[in-house]
Amino acid sequence: MDLYEHEAKQLFGEHDVPLAQRQLAGTPEQAALSATRLGPRVVVKAQVKTGGRGKAGGVKVAEGPEDAAAKAEQILGMDIKGHTVHRVLVEEASDIAEEYYFSLLLDRANRTFLSICSAEGGMDIEEVARTRPDAVVRTPVDPAQGLDRHTAWRICEQAGLPSDTHPRISTVLMRLWQVACEEDALLVEVNPLARTTDGHIIALDGKVTLDDNAAFRHPERTPFHDNGDADPLEVRAKEKGLNYVKLDGEVGIIGNGAGLVMSTLDVVAYAGEARGGVKPANFLDIGGGASAEVMADGLEIILGDPAVRSVFVNVFGGITACDAVANGIVQALELLEQRGDDVSKPLVVRLDGNNAELGRQILEERAHPAVRRVDTMDGAAAQAAELAAAK
Ligand code: GDP
Ligand code: MN
Repeated sequence: MDLYEHEAKQLFGEHDVPLAQRQLAGTPEQAALSATRLGPRVVVKAQVKTGGRGKAGGVKVAEGPEDAAAKAEQILGMDIKGHTVHRVLVEEASDIAEEYYFSLLLDRANRTFLSICSAEGGMDIEEVARTRPDAVVRTPVDPAQGLDRHTAWRICEQAGLPSDTHPRISTVLMRLWQVACEEDALLVEVNPLARTTDGHIIALDGKVTLDDNAAFRHPERTPFHDNGDADPLEVRAKEKGLNYVKLDGEVGIIGNGAGLVMSTLDVVAYAGEARGGVKPANFLDIGGGASAEVMADGLEIILGDPAVRSVFVNVFGGITACDAVANGIVQALELLEQRGDDVSKPLVVRLDGNNAELGRQILEERAHPAVRRVDTMDGAAAQAAELAAAK
């Protein structure tokens, strides 16, 4: 789960990462009140789970409470890359001398953490990495060893940070490692990590992605939750205990088991390349059992995505045999029709594994107009892509 800046900073604070004083505000009046407490100059910052807020006008300096209210008024309700601003963070303004970049992320491919550091922070780090790759230093951090003083110091040196900052910054980097490690984060990013004119080092921005699979290890943590920002279909799927992920293509994908679903995504993307770049619109893993009800819930969510033009149902019968799945699909369609849902989008169904023949026979006999049976994974992907491209 991605955290808001104010949530990331809350975690930073718990691990003694230096921060400016700040308060969250939901109205211009609250922003004014915060400005009264925080000092003559404050920065009013949009709280949305996307970057580039500064460029979009979502970060503004304010002089005094009245100005803070005015700036909050401008920012609240703003749309930043499709995210509506509901709250602002009012932060004591800092006099910035220099802006650096630092992040820690899980590097799955190399089974380690990777730290990225640059003396050229503040702006778009991808841009810096592209135009001046030497300005960005990548250093693996062994999770068993952690980010020790020696490694932190070496990062500061290699990134070319001013030498007088090394003692303080290496301490901050070690604390950020504590955040990543103890909070089970997949990403901890500080951009900018700022040096103020009076020599303090502070995390001026914060981005944290927590590993949802480790949430059970933090029962004491105040829940970071805001469904207001999440995709409504993802919220509905979660309520029904289904694993649904929204993507940006046109083919809806339902499968049983994570491995099968992942390879289905690849096969559809591959088939779609030759058909005008059709891609998966989403995917949903219905897991081991595939009762009519689970299938109906899954289909309801997949068909509820307006981007979906065709659906690929890819099931490998195991403990739940294909005949049960076939019955599930047909009953699910009937159930949805009874509920008044639109089930006219074409469904390409591929059944294999336990009792596949029986399952296919059931689909033939019931002959639902939306259902097309294809017996190979590649063939089914091609047809689903074709149908999505045709409309
Ligand atoms: P982002 O654009 O979403 O990454 O938002 P940031 O929190 O990084 O803010 C963008 C930029 O605003 C920073 O790079 C700073 O240059 C500037 N900024 C943020 N806070 C302050 C502050 O307290 N004082 C000053 N002078 N500038 C700030
Ligand atoms: Mn930033």
